[in-house]
Amino acid sequence: MPELPEVEVVRRGLERHVVGATITRVDVLHPRPVRRDPRGPEGFALALTGQQILGACRRGKYFWLPLGSGDALLGHLGMSGQMLIQAPGAPDETHLRVRIVLEGGGETLELRFVDQRMFGGLSVSEGGAELPPEISHIARDPLDPAFDDADFVRRVRRRTAGVKRLLLDQNLISGVGNIYADEALWRAQIHGDRPGERLTGKQVRELLDQARFVMNEALGQGGTSFDSLYVDVNGESGYFDRSLHAYGREGEPCDRCGRPIRRMAFMNRSSYFCAHCQPVPRRSTRRST
Ligand SMILES: [Zn+2]
Repeated sequence: MPELPEVEVVRRGLERHVVGATITRVDVLHPRPVRRDPRGPEGFALALTGQQILGACRRGKYFWLPLGSGDALLGHLGMSGQMLIQAPGAPDETHLRVRIVLEGGGETLELRFVDQRMFGGLSVSEGGAELPPEISHIARDPLDPAFDDADFVRRVRRRTAGVKRLLLDQNLISGVGNIYADEALWRAQIHGDRPGERLTGKQVRELLDQARFVMNEALGQGGTSFDSLYVDVNGESGYFDRSLHAYGREGEPCDRCGRPIRRMAFMNRSSYFCAHCQPVPRRSTRRST
């Protein structure tokens, strides 16, 4: 599943390749990816055609392209979505769902939404150029310069929920997915079940610093693919496989203490941690076995 750094890679690619271009044609090849648009596939295409793209923005894992009309093209990659820039006439991808033809600087380009599993999608957000109302409830992410650290620390320390659950709470902080949460917790030596209210301010700040570190690291590695005309995103692409210390490493030795990394079920997914470096809080010992 694409996490925030990969979505930021996509945003930067879009910024570089499509800003200033005008949409001349839209083909919706499958209705499901535009299901969130109340206009339906034809209305979606109509609302985009003729519009100039003014920017490329992101909030958490959503990205949007502000349009000359004051609306925005809002997108989410879901589990398997990709935004590709292709030359016209390039063969269609097997899972091509939406084709957006662009003209800019005397050039024709295609912006293609490709998605095998179709949990992601595109929609036109009415009046959403500044910030689409559909996503205005989503908190800023820790890489956003306007993220308020002190406020985050205060809010975490008022909550009784486990800190990993809080890291994944989009109303509190956005863009920290399962992988980055596990990595930041390992680095900060905090177990994800530790209740927010039992962490010190210093620990929450440390966790935030570590989340930024792993996200920036992934961003640095993903950045190498900018140069091609191919804006790609693939959550399992191995951008950061080499630097993972906890996630997906069940049974492998902890890079700090050498004891095996453990896995436990977490909200239909898994959590990976070192039980020595990140002791399981007493209250949840029984539940987590
Ligand atoms: Zn360890």
